[in-house]
Amino acid sequence: MAQHPKKRFGQHFLVDPGVIDAIVRAVAPRPGEALVEIGPGRGAITMPLLERCGALTVIELDRDLAARLRRTPGLEVVEADVLRVDFAALPAAAGGARPLRIVGNLPYNISTPILFHLLQSVDRIADQHVMLQKEVVDRMVARPGRKDYGRLSVMLQWRYEVEHVLDVAPEAFDPPPRVDSAVVRMAPKPAAAGVDPKLLGELVTVAFSQRRKLLRHTLGRWLDERGASGDFDVQRRAEEVPVEEYLRLASDVAKATREGSAPPSRREGLGRERP
Ligand code: SAH
Repeated sequence: MAQHPKKRFGQHFLVDPGVIDAIVRAVAPRPGEALVEIGPGRGAITMPLLERCGALTVIELDRDLAARLRRTPGLEVVEADVLRVDFAALPAAAGGARPLRIVGNLPYNISTPILFHLLQSVDRIADQHVMLQKEVVDRMVARPGRKDYGRLSVMLQWRYEVEHVLDVAPEAFDPPPRVDSAVVRMAPKPAAAGVDPKLLGELVTVAFSQRRKLLRHTLGRWLDERGASGDFDVQRRAEEVPVEEYLRLASDVAKATREGSAPPSRREGLGRERP
């Protein structure tokens, strides 16, 4: 008999065959690909994926569910907290020959941490199809000028093409979650040159710390402190600035910080003003 869903693991199992089919078609798995599913649960998406690609790695924290999944031939079951899994070290990624394709109906309570955890292995990943709260997906795909455009949009869009795939109503799950859901496709793109993710994260956090204010009150001061004001227009709100401009700014700040920390003699040599 199927076990009861456990609330602490964010278990909302997909039961709508139409939605399951739509997700599998969006992933369009092919034999030989290195698929990894996060939170397979009772296997709603797992089984149709497995049918199409013959082998699949799944990461499941719930010991009872993991035990059941282990009985299925073709499944490699990793019983672990996904936030502690090193994706680059998974057997499916052995030798780096096959980039990973990630799929998952994520536990919503930790969906954003999972996205940032996956970001650390972005270079080993071919693409990601994940289900999360619709409200989070709206922020992930938001473009500048929209009210949903914020830190999450910038921090994901700088490394992925992010595309909304489909909306999913609560009734598609057992038990139904209290929120609407959506599936998003994420395809990694090359990192912009000279951008340090940590510095970018800091910069974007400062920029969006007071969304309604002009940037000169927040980011402007932060840039001044780093001697990196340059020609960036701070007479705007954070939500008006496109991702590429944040990237260019992050790389400029890194450069200014490097120059600023050069020995005094060199600074004078460059004809810089002294305080
Ligand atoms: N994919 C299934 C289940 C989704 S519910 C379906 O669509 O029906 C979320 C799943 O993630 C559950 O199986 C839950 O046990 C699992 N899970 C929750 N927290 C986890 C974590 N930290 N690491 C790995 N799996 C987790």
